[in-house]
Parts: sequence; C-alpha cells; structure tokens
Amino acid sequence: MTTPFDPSPADAESASPLSLAQPWSSAMELALLEADAAAEAGDVPVGAVLVPPTLDLAGAPRGRNLREAREDPTAHAEIIALRSAAELVGRWRLDGWTCVVTLEPCPMCAGALVNARVARVVFGCRDPKAGAVRSLFEIASDPRLNHRLEVVEGVEADACADRLRRFFAARRREGKK
Ligand SMILES: [Zn+2]
Repeated sequence: MTTPFDPSPADAESASPLSLAQPWSSAMELALLEADAAAEAGDVPVGAVLVPPTLDLAGAPRGRNLREAREDPTAHAEIIALRSAAELVGRWRLDGWTCVVTLEPCPMCAGALVNARVARVVFGCRDPKAGAVRSLFEIASDPRLNHRLEVVEGVEADACADRLRRFFAARRREGKK
C-alpha cells in the first residue's frame, strides 16, 4: 500500500521551518538595529546576526561595524558576530549556523564565513564595490574551496540600502570624506 503523502518524523526534521515558513526578515530586523547603532557611532551602517541551527533568535550573537570605533580594519559586523558565536559555543566550527547581514560580505568576511563552515549567508543589498559572494567574487560558492555556503540575497534590501544612502548623504553634507 502506498500513500501519496506520508510525512514521517524524519521528513519533518529535515525541513527547515524558518526558511519554509518565513524568510529571514525577523533576523534581518535585528541586523538593521545593529546597523543603526553603528551609524550613530559614526561607522558605516552594517549589522549582522549569527542565527544558530535551532533558528532561535533570542540570544543570537550580533555584530555591527566597529571599524572607526575601534580603529580596526577587521572589525566588520560579520567578524564581530562570528567571534561572539564561536565564543558562545566554545569552538571555531559553526556548522549549521546562518549569517544574516545587511550588506553583501566583503572578501575578508566571506572568507571568514567559509573558514567557520557557516551553512548559509543571507544578505540585504549588494555591494558593487566590495561584495564577495555575488558582485565581484563568489567566494561562498566557489567549488575550489573546501566549503560552500547557501546564499540568500535581497532580504529587506531596500531598508538595508536606505541606511547606507542616508549615512553617506549625511556625511557628504558634513563635508567629510
Ligand atoms: Zn567585511
């Protein structure tokens, strides 16, 4: 006897509830809060959230761009969030984790995501000048590397791009370079 649809517990477990039931908007909202905090401190507004395999957003490690605040060229939102996540779980491997970030990752951050074995990167808007998972390079999906990530783009893209536009417009008004 065959049934056309027989959902076994294994099937239910293998489905990813968040990616099916809702896109990554709620995680991106948290990342946007981080981006706003970065802008308030004078840094380019980029925010990131590391979502654990459980997809539980409560306590999910977050990061924001702190390059100016720390005078640190590596203090990008994704790096801050990755370090925090690794510290949280006590290991460098972040199998099954998802990085949700407002702006397409740069080569450094895309490389760090590959090194951390993150499962997925979700970003808001593309970065035509430095983007390294779609725009200039495709580091997250390069078959020559030993790990590849699923890439989801365009989540809250307008809100993410709008933060950047307003930040740079304000900076031009202030006459800074
Ligand atoms: Zn970066």
